[in-house]
Amino acid sequence: MLQYDLHCHSTRSDGLLSPADVIRRAAARGVDVIALTDHDEVVGLAEARAAAQDAGIAFIDGSELSVTWNGETVHVVALGIDPENVELAEGLTGVRSGRDARARRIGDALEDAGIPDAFEGASGFVTSPRLISRTHFARYLIETGYVRDMKEAFKRYLTSGKPGYVPHAWASLAEVVGWIHGAGGQAVIAHPGRYKLKPSELRALIAEFRDLGGDALEVVSPSHTAAQFAEFATLARTHGLKVSCGSDFHGVGESRLDFGELPPLPAGVDPVWSTW
Ligand code: AMP
Ligand code: MN
Ligand code: MN
Ligand code: MN
Repeated sequence: MLQYDLHCHSTRSDGLLSPADVIRRAAARGVDVIALTDHDEVVGLAEARAAAQDAGIAFIDGSELSVTWNGETVHVVALGIDPENVELAEGLTGVRSGRDARARRIGDALEDAGIPDAFEGASGFVTSPRLISRTHFARYLIETGYVRDMKEAFKRYLTSGKPGYVPHAWASLAEVVGWIHGAGGQAVIAHPGRYKLKPSELRALIAEFRDLGGDALEVVSPSHTAAQFAEFATLARTHGLKVSCGSDFHGVGESRLDFGELPPLPAGVDPVWSTW
């Protein structure tokens, strides 16, 4: 059986390895089919595709798009997109452009909480001039000793209701599904178990996504328990959605799962790759 990993990050967003190193690591660890899905970005795909060709594994052009749905941030993974598609590229530029002002506000909020110079500090961890994320703030908070690890950085400072969190309006679900389909790709709701949504709200999100033409639900993810694999497989089936899987790898020491460690899809689902 082929090993699919359809969600991971490189230095073109908030990962620690270059696109080529991501691919080489995945290939060395037994992944057969990989999608690079940098946040709101496609600029690493050409390098990754070339590395996949050298390594002899299959490559899927991807991205992970930031959405605001009912006031909550939701991530939508795009798979099989044309990275040259103009509307998608313009959409992503728009989504990324809000990140700089947001990061300054995060810096101000942390300053108010007694942590000075966090914007400058986080900027020192940025690896692509096109994108700053909360992950870069988390690395700064670790380096300066305010927290011990990523988990604590988010839990104490960077998630909703915490001192360094600022609300931000990303793209709408309809826009993002439209861009992805316009670029010939499939749209996948990423890690549904991560959102602070009530069960009824999660079902409403999935129903709206399906009605917009959304394609799949990411079921196997390190963000989920084994019980959630089964729960989300059922949700996918009852909504007529396909199922995806991905490690969400960001780097050694920062990610719960490394390449090649993903459990298999639950039985009885329709994989997102069934028509590839
Ligand atoms: P942003 O797109 O700037 O809001 O940053 C989101 C990124 O922060 C995610 O893609 C993860 O890489 C990281 N992240 C969010 N929540 C957590 C968490 N609880 N623990 C570790 N990393 C997280
Ligand atoms: Mn990330
Ligand atoms: Mn995500
Ligand atoms: Mn991700």
